[in-house]
Amino acid sequence: MTTHFPQGARIGVLTTEPVGLLDYLAPQGGVALGQPVVAPLGPRRVLGVVWGKGQGGFDAAKLRPIARLVESAPLSPAMLDFIQRAADYTLTPLPVMLRMALRAPDLDQPPAARRVIHRAGPPPARMTDARAAVLRVLDDHGGAGFAPSELAQLAGVGVSVVKGLVAAGTLVETMAPKDAPFPRLDPALPGKPLAPDQSAAAETLRGGLRGGGYATTLLRGVTGSGKTEVYLEAVAECLRLGRQALVLLPEIALSAEFLDRVEARFGARPGEWHSGITRSERRRLWHMAGRGEVGLVVGARSALFLPFRDLGLIVVDEEHDGSYKQDETVHYSARDMAVLRASIEGAQVVLASATPSVETWVNAASGKYHRLDLRARYGEAELPDMRAIDLRREQMTQGQWISPTLAAAVTERLGRGEQSLLFLNRRGYAPVTTCRGCGHQIGCEDCDARMVEHRFQRRLVCHQCGASRPIPTACPACGAEGKLAAIGPGVERLAEEVAARFPEARAVVLSSDLYGSARALKETIASITAGGADIIIGTQIVAKGHNFPALTLVGVIDADLGLQGADLRAAERSFQLMRQVAGRAGRQAGDRPGLALLQTHQPEHPVIRAILSGDDEAFWDAEAESRRAAGMPPFSRLAGIILSHPEQAVVESYAQELARRAAPLAEIGAELFGPAPAPIARVRARFRVRMLIRAPRQAPLQPAIARWLATAPKAPANLRLAVDIDPQSFL
Ligand code: ADP
Ligand code: ZN
Repeated sequence: MTTHFPQGARIGVLTTEPVGLLDYLAPQGGVALGQPVVAPLGPRRVLGVVWGKGQGGFDAAKLRPIARLVESAPLSPAMLDFIQRAADYTLTPLPVMLRMALRAPDLDQPPAARRVIHRAGPPPARMTDARAAVLRVLDDHGGAGFAPSELAQLAGVGVSVVKGLVAAGTLVETMAPKDAPFPRLDPALPGKPLAPDQSAAAETLRGGLRGGGYATTLLRGVTGSGKTEVYLEAVAECLRLGRQALVLLPEIALSAEFLDRVEARFGARPGEWHSGITRSERRRLWHMAGRGEVGLVVGARSALFLPFRDLGLIVVDEEHDGSYKQDETVHYSARDMAVLRASIEGAQVVLASATPSVETWVNAASGKYHRLDLRARYGEAELPDMRAIDLRREQMTQGQWISPTLAAAVTERLGRGEQSLLFLNRRGYAPVTTCRGCGHQIGCEDCDARMVEHRFQRRLVCHQCGASRPIPTACPACGAEGKLAAIGPGVERLAEEVAARFPEARAVVLSSDLYGSARALKETIASITAGGADIIIGTQIVAKGHNFPALTLVGVIDADLGLQGADLRAAERSFQLMRQVAGRAGRQAGDRPGLALLQTHQPEHPVIRAILSGDDEAFWDAEAESRRAAGMPPFSRLAGIILSHPEQAVVESYAQELARRAAPLAEIGAELFGPAPAPIARVRARFRVRMLIRAPRQAPLQPAIARWLATAPKAPANLRLAVDIDPQSFL
């Protein structure tokens, strides 16, 4: 039952402009609540959504009718509620939040047939680089679906190259209807026969869906224990019930395998929503989500803001993953917003992870979330054997990072034709470049950060802002020639050591910056899977879900790297990352478990001990207890305030002024820490100051912050202020 406003009725339209809510008149034929519309605003036409009754108090004679309806389904009342509450929760202006929900290209354009390019014939007799680039882009996307100009743009060539390929008969241009429904997924197709614990977990999730209400379930089990298989059964039940399902994945560009599994299970591919899909596919998915013409969507975090007509299930896979937190424009956690949305929609949430976040752990322990455990790897061994290599007892050579013990283990694997993975979470060649003459360390001009040498690109790169410059031969401070030295290892330097010590081995570096495209990375991963490498040297990109069957040894080069951080999640993150990396080591021939070796200077550190002991429950209980003792989340609530300005004095004095007015925070029992320069005090030539608010768990934090900021003096020009509720980053 959607509310309908008859022609001439006074309606409130939430626009995507800073003015927000404005009154208009319903057009001829009336308009439904939630309907996206185009409305006049001064001389312009702006996008908005019918938000409710008009507010009144404005001269009715001056009201204008909205210009026209967008040709789409209205947003559901649950969606409107979600937008409002997500804005309230994250303290985001409502129009900015609405823009997230209306992020379909050309939304205000009517659907029409459009020209699309398909692969038709053999490659052209005359192949050029430009032509090859076009064909590569097409192949990457299943061979079809692009407008000619879009295809040319993605391939980085002129439209004439595409036309040339059409003339040559390699490609063909046809007219396709815009916004076609997605093929139906068939939940009646048989799934894999499930093991008893899988089957019990699947039945519990199905029961939750049939119940029709909201609940969140932590689905826990090591990588390979069959979590995906289980939640696909929940998806099947959701589809049977005629509702829609959403699966969020952290690394969507690499999720080709998941799409294949969906196709194998349900006979068709799901809708996809992430940065790698075409504009027209994005638009189509947005519309079909609203019409209920797509059953399952697989996407990155922003898929959560699609206008589903009737969402019954949200799966957040690898729920602990840092990529679910967005830290630009709107600061939000997709995991937490999934729970909010589901509670509004009467939907089920499944949080899947081998190493859940402490927040989720505590919620499961307190009974707020249900918990299901898959104990063993499906048809496979448990976790690998894990041992520490005490670097204090190893004969380490200057400028080398692989200990004799680790080297011997690698040599053994090489002899058996098995793969080894050397993990170092540092991109580039060396984290610091210093002058042996004057001691100067080369830093970024715009940021408080050292430049990282990327020898492969022959440049120094700032990992904060991305600025880069050629590696100088002379010290920029003292001018001495030939005195610059690389300090410390990055994966590129480790690769050099591997090449020197294992000259006969085939080594591959997996680091996000070394691959120009997701496709190149995918190809490398496929080649490693097929046995095309003996030693893999990788950053955290290797931790995410790739299965290399011949991999039996994981060596963590610097297990201490994440332990020092002052960040409240340092221990948790180290634990998750090392557990995940270690989990890459599969069984060895002869059924021995794989081996993970952690190089460390502090084998007695509680986190290292927890990783080695394999007692995760004890680790989470201890983490939760130390958070409770320190009064940190989830036993209290935090909010970060980040201010920045090109001039240090301006941002500091404004922050001081704000801090003086913090009475509304004190009223709810919240404490204000700071202002203080951010740990990375300058980024992109802007000075950054942070404040941190800590409030009791049940305190009305957001309204208090809103009241506080409402008393703020007018901000100086060019000052930026961001509020980060439940911050993950404190930099
Ligand atoms: P997870 O999501 O926990 O990492 P998956 O669901 O991906 O685990 O399962 C790991 C592997 O085991 C996959 O290749 C999957 O197809 C297979 N698998 C899981 N459960 C079954 C089952 N019941 N029957 C056959 N194969 C299974
Ligand atoms: Zn920089």
